[in-house]
Amino acid sequence: MDIFISWVEGMGNDSKALNTIKGSNFINGIESGMNDGEAKKIRDFGIEVSLHNPIRGVTFSLENPGIKEILKERQEEILDFKTIPFPFIGFHVGYLVILYDMKLPENPIKQIEANVGLLKKLLNKEIAFETAPLEKEMLAFGNIKAKKYLVSPKFIKDVIARTNMGYIFDISHVFVSAATLAHMSNLTLNEILSDVIEASAGNVLELHLNLPKEDLGVGFKDAHLPFDFNSGLTRRLLEVVKRVIEQNQGLHLINLEMETYRPPFYHVKILEKQAEFLRSELDLK
Ligand SMILES: [Zn+2]
Repeated sequence: MDIFISWVEGMGNDSKALNTIKGSNFINGIESGMNDGEAKKIRDFGIEVSLHNPIRGVTFSLENPGIKEILKERQEEILDFKTIPFPFIGFHVGYLVILYDMKLPENPIKQIEANVGLLKKLLNKEIAFETAPLEKEMLAFGNIKAKKYLVSPKFIKDVIARTNMGYIFDISHVFVSAATLAHMSNLTLNEILSDVIEASAGNVLELHLNLPKEDLGVGFKDAHLPFDFNSGLTRRLLEVVKRVIEQNQGLHLINLEMETYRPPFYHVKILEKQAEFLRSELDLK
């Protein structure tokens, strides 16, 4: 299993940070959402890079009917992605509706299928999708039914059946959303988590790991925190992670999508400890 860590500002120019990754027994690469040439710089340094949601801007979510126009406008920077040899690129889905309250296309699965077709052709790579974190308070406004559908096991199943895309299982997005769905239904959080594991089984290409924040009385919030090795919530999430790994032979990449709010070298050192902990805790080769 490869463990990558998320890019942080300044990383591409910090040889101390990059050398630490190069010599690490626990970290294998960097996941970057950048499209300004920094990913290429890191690769030229001899470190593997994966791209995640590299077409920045809030509207780049796979259900957007306007993706064709965005791709046309930004052709040049998109061609840059081709210089990164990683076999797939991850994109978001459901964000427009869940976070920005925009309208869901009438036939979202068909729209997603069309957009994925365009991206595959343009990038000559496989595309993977990540579902959004649906926090409880996001149900206070907008199209609640659409929001719930876009994080549901059924939606994940529908997308995979129609597009054959790989799934990026973001443990916090799944957990936060499942807690919200459980609050609105007669299923328990554990039952919904099991349904998501089952819906994505065999199709998970990548895990995103980090710790959400628990607000008593409010529920969980997506927070991109490092794991707290002693907390019950970390243990609970890692039990889910173990089941995902068992169910997905094709899964070879974990990205520690964690914010440390530290400069690159310290970011790397903190996440190297996390990677060491996870390798032993999850018994990873
Ligand atoms: Zn993620």
